[in-house]
Amino acid sequence: MKAYSAHLITGSNQQAQRQLLALRLRSRMSFLQQATPLHIFVVTLRCEHSCPYCQVSRQSTDRSRFDMSEETAMRALDIAFASPAPRIKIEFQGGEPLLNFPLINTIVSTAKVRSASLGKKVDFVIASNLALLDDVVLDFCKSNDVLLSTSLDGPADLHNKNRPRPGANSHELAVAGIRRAKEVLGPDRIGALMTTTEASLDRVDDIIDQYLQLGLDGIFLRPLSPFGFAVKTKQFQKYDTGKWLDFYERGLHRVLDINRQGKPFREFYAALILTRMLSDRPIGYVDLRSPAGAGLGALVYNYDGGIFASDEGRMLAEAGDNAFRLGHVDHDSYKSLVLSDKLIDTISSSLTQCAPECSTCVYESHCGADPVYHHATQGDALGIKPLSAFCARQKGIMGVLLNILENSPEDAAILRRWAAS
Ligand code: SF4
Repeated sequence: MKAYSAHLITGSNQQAQRQLLALRLRSRMSFLQQATPLHIFVVTLRCEHSCPYCQVSRQSTDRSRFDMSEETAMRALDIAFASPAPRIKIEFQGGEPLLNFPLINTIVSTAKVRSASLGKKVDFVIASNLALLDDVVLDFCKSNDVLLSTSLDGPADLHNKNRPRPGANSHELAVAGIRRAKEVLGPDRIGALMTTTEASLDRVDDIIDQYLQLGLDGIFLRPLSPFGFAVKTKQFQKYDTGKWLDFYERGLHRVLDINRQGKPFREFYAALILTRMLSDRPIGYVDLRSPAGAGLGALVYNYDGGIFASDEGRMLAEAGDNAFRLGHVDHDSYKSLVLSDKLIDTISSSLTQCAPECSTCVYESHCGADPVYHHATQGDALGIKPLSAFCARQKGIMGVLLNILENSPEDAAILRRWAAS
């Protein structure tokens, strides 16, 4: 009976059960009906930090050469508003985007006028290290409903080691910025992301405690990615998947401890996977879906007008690999970008539903295609999954989660709550 109600077995001519299964699948894949909700504007490549794991090839000088022009930004807005999604998000990235704050101001005011005339909703996020956050920027965010997203790698010694800047005060500025943003914009208007370096591996409790101290509602435990300076400075090679999974599992158990003591706090990647595992709600997260999120989930407008299928795709281009460069704001439309042979080839060749290894994998319906990662590490958008660190991490994390769901009732109840909200 259990196998029947879980749709694992069926009787002959059981039309209703098949239709129910089709409905559930349609709900899980309904992110495809809202094509390209995310538009990333790289308003400058300049940055005053010099992080060795930086995934972008930041520049320190030459404002005219590495800042996006107003003309490029307006063309990018034309493309963003032509995407079918009824609600779009415009995210400002860099370099450090606040180094080109006047352009952010212009883009936000123009996008709001267009959004009103087209009846399309628009949200804004600035991804900033907060070193340049001041009252002018905060007032602007408050009056335009702009969210902030920042980087926080843990306590001061670890964060400052990972994120050098003149004055060695990156942590001090990030923490002051988070506190001030929570005060002025509201407690849920700023989020933080961490990156795991070799120095983070035995510090997961300290890192999580730092997030708790700042009143953040969860943490996203992220490994290093094989792009930009992280490759050039060899940071990416400094630990293997096994070490990272060990770090992740210890972190997840620490987060569960915190919840058991009565404080709601999440590990966000686990929450995303659990939503895939335990519900039929669609999740738009670009790395956890097949067809892949490249182009269909997000488009990236580089400072020079080049358009990319993903943020990692533009990072590869800064290192000379244009595999995911779809076009340019001067000659392309939304339609020409999403119907380009390059994007169609990338997406169709990376589908997990029919890929070797993935199509017979027990985790397939909860996993995703990551063609840019596999191109960067194996020179092939599909990738050989037994050699893929992405695949090993997915299997490792999902195995840990299933083990908790099966064997630890109290922790399983916490995980189920993450999936339900
Ligand atoms: S865990 Fe690996 S093999 Fe399984 S679906 Fe994901 S990428 Fe494919």
